[in-house]
Amino acid sequence: MTAILLDPQFLEPFMSLFNSSKSRTLLSVLCSLLMGLLAIPALAGGEVNIYSARKEDLIKPLLDDFSKQTGIPINLVTGKEAELLQRLQSEGINTPADLLLTSDAGRLAAARQAGVLQTIQSAALEKHIPSAYRDPEGYWYGLSVRARPIIYARDRVKPGELSTYENLAASDWKGKICVRSSDSIYNQSLVAGMIAHHGEAKTEAWAKGLVANFARSPKGGDRDQIKAVAAGECDLTLANTYYLGGMVTSSDQAEQVAAAQVAVFWPNAMTTGVHVNISGAGVTAHAKNRDNAVKLLEFLADDKAQRWYADVNNEYPVNPAIPPSATLKAWGEFKADTLNVAKLGELNAEAVKLMDRAGWK
Ligand code: FE
Repeated sequence: MTAILLDPQFLEPFMSLFNSSKSRTLLSVLCSLLMGLLAIPALAGGEVNIYSARKEDLIKPLLDDFSKQTGIPINLVTGKEAELLQRLQSEGINTPADLLLTSDAGRLAAARQAGVLQTIQSAALEKHIPSAYRDPEGYWYGLSVRARPIIYARDRVKPGELSTYENLAASDWKGKICVRSSDSIYNQSLVAGMIAHHGEAKTEAWAKGLVANFARSPKGGDRDQIKAVAAGECDLTLANTYYLGGMVTSSDQAEQVAAAQVAVFWPNAMTTGVHVNISGAGVTAHAKNRDNAVKLLEFLADDKAQRWYADVNNEYPVNPAIPPSATLKAWGEFKADTLNVAKLGELNAEAVKLMDRAGWK
């Protein structure tokens, strides 16, 4: 109705009341502006728009469940982490995105630094998410925990020979380690954690020792490293457990066979604990559906969604009240590093430079 009343065509007869074309143009412009203002509430209806760096099948079922429960529709745009961040930056205040979902704390910290997130205070989020797994000021929240232990060949390594990440730089492991490249944010975060614990000089010496023990030049993803261990190309690797979990339950027979040839060792049990990272999300600085985005965050941190992360994704629930999947439970309990994962982001640039100096390709 408003639109019809303000339509310049409808106004045509009244235009003659204005005697100059200048004032008519002015009236037209004013009408258009008014129409725009009135149209905003309709555009900002109840929905949530997500930019997600997580693969669609790893998040979609949860989002559908949220929509079913709340009647709030969700629009999902998936893409690479760096591209989504760049997009948020270039769209600025005009971004349609309300929530940014990523699979690494380093990425979330980068988003905070770029100014594309806003702080959220929520009693429910604080209750369900331990403080080590969320931004200290509430810019982002972890939703699942991923552990990066040592994965070794059952027939060539005895668990008694393993102890810490630090020990992997010892010359006993010369030519026996496969690791993904330094481009991997997972390795960058691992090194950032080492810097937080030991400082730069000690971490650099460690990284040089580790690189000297590589069985081959880094290539492939975490799954490829596990397969290389199973195939005898190397004796051990560092990989996120959900990749191994995915291989254990894979429909591909070869992946199942490879998974059966390796085992998980939880390093640093007596010291700093196992390196952990998170997948998580933050509400964007210019979210048009802020309240709905917070509702979705709270839903993802709540029992039902947390159980789904554990059972289907083979990730560790961020909520300590929820047990991990049977596959993960079979590998035993471990002591997780209690370092706030925000540190991994803060030290990311330093870690990348350090890995480069250490010759980690
Ligand atoms: Fe991954």
